Amino acid sequence: MRIAIISRNKNLYSTRRLIEAGEAKGHEMHVLDPLRCYMNINAKEPEIHMRGKELPQFDAVIPRIGASITFYGAAVLRQFEMMGTYPLNESVAISRSRDKLRSLQLLSRKGIGLPVTGFASKPNDIPDLIDMVGGAPLVIKLLEGTQGIGVVLAETRKAAESVIEAFMGLNAHFMVQEYIKEAGGADLRCFVIGDKVIAAMKRQAKPGEFRSNLHRGGSATLVKLSPAERATAVKAAKTMGLNVAGVDLLRSNHGPLVMEVNSSPGLEGIEMATDKDVAAQIISFIEKTAKAHKTRTKGHG
Ligand code: ADP
Repeated sequence: MRIAIISRNKNLYSTRRLIEAGEAKGHEMHVLDPLRCYMNINAKEPEIHMRGKELPQFDAVIPRIGASITFYGAAVLRQFEMMGTYPLNESVAISRSRDKLRSLQLLSRKGIGLPVTGFASKPNDIPDLIDMVGGAPLVIKLLEGTQGIGVVLAETRKAAESVIEAFMGLNAHFMVQEYIKEAGGADLRCFVIGDKVIAAMKRQAKPGEFRSNLHRGGSATLVKLSPAERATAVKAAKTMGLNVAGVDLLRSNHGPLVMEVNSSPGLEGIEMATDKDVAAQIISFIEKTAKAHKTRTKGHG
């Protein structure tokens, strides 16, 4: 097959591994920087060009679109879909998963366990917002944050009020969330492909820290999931419409709770922690499922 990877940088670990895995299985792998692609909007013959040339037809496309370029990256992916290329994850599912509020609303509608969460922008009754999620201690998150930046644990009501006021002063959207203390500074990253969790790791925060992000000094190890954890991760990915997803869970004393569903989960941490060839499994999934004109977009937007 001729497979395109939409990625800004061919030297990133995940991109490199996908190229390797694809080539090892005899596929022709191309890395395309989405920001370099330009396109016509034409109902009959949609085209994508790069460096003055029309791109050839691809059988499948693997989107690795960073959060900062979601808008344009999703448009490029949609163009592939209109041309009948099979997307590993569809553009609509990626855009959906990038909207944290919409994601949590969709997950809760399907009855998936979530930490009790409130959203606010400029609440005129902060004490009521705090009461709504069960009072302190609570976790306050900037919506635009990644890698744990902008995630604050407020141990007291006073601290929570101050942080909320500070976020409001920054004109930022934020969430307030029940603090899952029993998670013990750990979360679970479940790597879902299709209807299976194919690898899972536990990320543990360093001592004195509640955020388990590897960028914040957390460490990752192989973990065995319970059947309920597996089922929750698969259901969360399905709810978002993602074939491939990194589902982050917290272990609470009332079962697994979904924190986030990531549509471009990194391969480095999970391959290192589990010793599994995740890239090869992604390529095998594409071999099994890729068919032209299989997306819901089908040229209709
Ligand atoms: P980011 O998307 O920036 O990584 P997260 O929402 O994943 O932010 O939060 C970062 C880390 O903080 C999580 O990996 C988890 O370890 C911890 N954490 C987040 N929310 C909660 C919560 N409600 N209760 C307990 N720990 C949490």
